Amino acid sequence: MNKLYDLIIIGGGVAGLIGAIKGAEKGLQVALLEKNGKLGRKILISGAGQCNITNSDEISEFLTKYGKNNKFLRNSLYNFTPTDLMSFYKDNGLNLYIRDDGKVFPESKKAGDVVSLLYDLCRKNHVDIFVNQKVESIEYSNNFIINNGVFYSKNVLIATGGITYPHTGSTGDGYKFAKYFGHTIIEPKPALSPIFIENYQFKDISGISFKNVEIIILNENNKRIATLKNDLLLTHRNLSGPVILNISRYAKVGYYLQINFVGFSKSEVKDDLLHTQQENGRRLLKNYLKKYNLPTRFILKILNIINIDENIKIADINKKMRESLLRMLTEYKNKIYKISPSGMATAGGINIKEINPKTMESKLVKGLYFAGEVLDIDGDTGGYNIQVASSMAVLAVKDIKK
Ligand SMILES: Cc1cc2nc3c(=O)[nH]c(=O)nc-3n(C[C@H](O)[C@H](O)[C@H](O)COP(=O)(O)OP(=O)(O)OC[C@H]3O[C@@H](n4cnc5c(N)ncnc54)[C@H](O)[C@@H]3O)c2cc1C
Repeated sequence: MNKLYDLIIIGGGVAGLIGAIKGAEKGLQVALLEKNGKLGRKILISGAGQCNITNSDEISEFLTKYGKNNKFLRNSLYNFTPTDLMSFYKDNGLNLYIRDDGKVFPESKKAGDVVSLLYDLCRKNHVDIFVNQKVESIEYSNNFIINNGVFYSKNVLIATGGITYPHTGSTGDGYKFAKYFGHTIIEPKPALSPIFIENYQFKDISGISFKNVEIIILNENNKRIATLKNDLLLTHRNLSGPVILNISRYAKVGYYLQINFVGFSKSEVKDDLLHTQQENGRRLLKNYLKKYNLPTRFILKILNIINIDENIKIADINKKMRESLLRMLTEYKNKIYKISPSGMATAGGINIKEINPKTMESKLVKGLYFAGEVLDIDGDTGGYNIQVASSMAVLAVKDIKK
């Protein structure tokens, strides 16, 4: 029989790498199996190549960033906190930089430095690394048997990632292994994705962004599914920016997306407009609208969309025009026809009800552990995904004995 490891980790992404280091540090015999020729391909493209490893938020704030599955992460996040993750990198020689918005990056702003460090730490701690080693099968008979006996291990940690950006190696293989052992899979779909709406009218003013815009997702029956406020970006073909990426986990084709561009309700804007009509009716509407911090290009565009002359005075706005304007500004609603498949995370995955959140061990199979995006966990943009992938992996190996 080939060597029997204490722990075999499948997947050399951030979860697999950190799990391997922490496991080997405590004396486990660890092998890391990665199907690509190189480790950490997704880390390399994260944070636009700068790798936003975590966020300086308080943990209580972290626990609001993962949709309905927040609770599952309590143990892993408190066991290996964002502060612990930052210390881990700093203590191992990687200086960090905290941006004003709380995002934490390597000071060098090079994701490659994160991968190099994790690789060096694996080597230093004698992790056996096998690249170009695609795992095809995992079975169990006294021990875990991988690829029909090429590898044996007392414990296995599946850290194979989700389904988006498949060229990085995340092609959903972990779901197959989990299913084999009886786990159920919540249908995986892209998250942190730009959203395409029908009748997109902002192509020629793309690049404009708005601060703290409220977005509402409504279902086919107009029932409110989710509401979120953050920054919005109008791109060439779709809607993006943090508010869209973060709310995309709730979006579905056929649902509606409603935007409030001004941060006030329809009735508040109406009252103010009527008041201005009486007090200062000679004012041009396009100048009046600047009070809502709207870029001039956007103001001219929306007046064009609703067929109102750009040089109209406020006094000349009739009831019909006012209604169109108020809707455009506060309740701009369109059907969603596509959610970009190139989401930065995967919503859905292995059902977390079948995983013990205190150990990350399968409730169905002893010695089988999971960490990272392969699970039904997806975080907001801002360093929240890499943090929990790391925290889950650290918690998993904490439980594994020699
Ligand atoms: C463009 C982009 C930017 C992002 N930016 C950020 C950011 O700045 N901050 C942040 O927090 N999050 C970011 N994310 C999300 C974050 O990168 C991921 O959530 C995180 O890296 C997931 O780590 P993981 O280890 O769970 O999975 P992955 O990184 O997907 O790693 C899984 C590994 O398993 C390997 N594998 C799969 N199947 C097999 C098999 N059968 N045999 C052997 N190996 C296998 C894969 O090749 C891969 O290397 C970004 C994502 C993308 C796509």
